[in-house]
Amino acid sequence: MSYKVIKFGGSNLRKTIDFRRCAEIVVNYDAPCIIVVSAFFKVTDKLKQAAIEASDSGNFPEPLLLDLYSTCEEQINANIDDPRIIEHTRDELRRLLDKLANLYKGVYAIGELPPAINDTILSFGERISALILSAVIRSRGLKTSLALPENFGLITDGEFGSASIKLKESSKAVINYFSGKQYYVVPGFYGVSAEGKINLLGRGGSDYSAAALANMVEADSLDIWKDVCGFQTCDPKIVKDPKTINQLSYNEAAELSYFGAKILHPRTVEPLIPKGIPVRIFNVKQPSAGPGTLISPDTGADLPGPKSITFSRNFSVLKLKGPGVGSKPGVLAKVAGIMDIAGVNISSVFTSQTAICFLLQKSDLRIARKAIKVNAPALINEVEAISDIALVALVGEGITTKQGIAAKAFQAVAAENINVEIIAAGASTAAVYFVVKESDCNRAVIATHNFFFSEGGNLDSRPLSENTSIIL
Ligand code: ASP
Ligand code: MG
Repeated sequence: MSYKVIKFGGSNLRKTIDFRRCAEIVVNYDAPCIIVVSAFFKVTDKLKQAAIEASDSGNFPEPLLLDLYSTCEEQINANIDDPRIIEHTRDELRRLLDKLANLYKGVYAIGELPPAINDTILSFGERISALILSAVIRSRGLKTSLALPENFGLITDGEFGSASIKLKESSKAVINYFSGKQYYVVPGFYGVSAEGKINLLGRGGSDYSAAALANMVEADSLDIWKDVCGFQTCDPKIVKDPKTINQLSYNEAAELSYFGAKILHPRTVEPLIPKGIPVRIFNVKQPSAGPGTLISPDTGADLPGPKSITFSRNFSVLKLKGPGVGSKPGVLAKVAGIMDIAGVNISSVFTSQTAICFLLQKSDLRIARKAIKVNAPALINEVEAISDIALVALVGEGITTKQGIAAKAFQAVAAENINVEIIAAGASTAAVYFVVKESDCNRAVIATHNFFFSEGGNLDSRPLSENTSIIL
């Protein structure tokens, strides 16, 4: 059988018209079709905030539960005609909200939010939206069922908050489960551990759920429906009129997502690469326009410069200083081991003779600093935590091997009197990135984007300054 896997994000699930739009899009797909959904717009944030408040101050989130009920009721009334489907959906909705209320009661009773309960509570955003969307699609006369990850066995590695999906372990049961010529609506964002515990797949993880299912059923494509056309040459909130990028390689899409473009979850392409399954990004508001961005093994036309400039303010730097840290064997392994034990993920590492710099998520900086201060080898005499930075990335396949691209970007940034603190390239063939002060981020992004993409920004005609020296 030839499957399509499609995914609707939370920004497509705000108003009554959004649900109608999604259902109309689904009708144009032939069965079998797997539809993965995110929570309604902002609902995951609200569930999370309410869970924190329940454990910290014993607040029971009555207003949130009432709000969820009335939002769903509105969608049911506006989008479903069949009284039997309406009644069934209301029953299921009440059941879900009762369970959610009990979880919150448990949290405020014990005054704590254990990871297992946190993950279960946050999965309710997707459970609710999948229930409503499946009912709306069924009411259009399509054979539709709600397919829950705990029922079809989307097995994870058991890590709470940010689990990985085990494709091999899940595959057989998944193929058996999705064997009907019908429509399946799946709540994204979570799977279950081998012990049956709910595990989230990281924020924005519904894309990753959809990609894992596409891998297992060997889908023809993964179609991601958003409220934008696809990846762009830059964030439209920062630069005027960026262009949509028609084609990206898996590598390019992963680098862009990792370094800040909020179009896809960074792990989305991971399950698709082994089977060469393309991702097509569509805009729900312009369904007939076709995909804005196609992500596939092929990078498309070879451009002289990067395909996109992205940035992130989520990173920080932990600098460990000491004489000879760069030359003494074993120091790097030792400090990396300390980070590992502290549960801190190292995004990148740069070393010199007298300093080791770790690029970390901002949210990990405090933990990492504390762990290093307590356990660091004697050689390290100063630990500096720098959080007021931003990372700017130039992404495009082959960018590290194309002569002078990075150098020209730094020249454009230098012309704005912006100091580049750290430069990194080479780990991936598709990205060069550099670190600037957070307050310089927007100007650095605009200068780089203007240089490569504005009309008259002819990158080939711009000579490299004599003074620019860059080691890649
Ligand atoms: N609802 C989840 C989040 O906000 C997952 C997703 O949107 O894909 O992170
Ligand atoms: Mg999302």
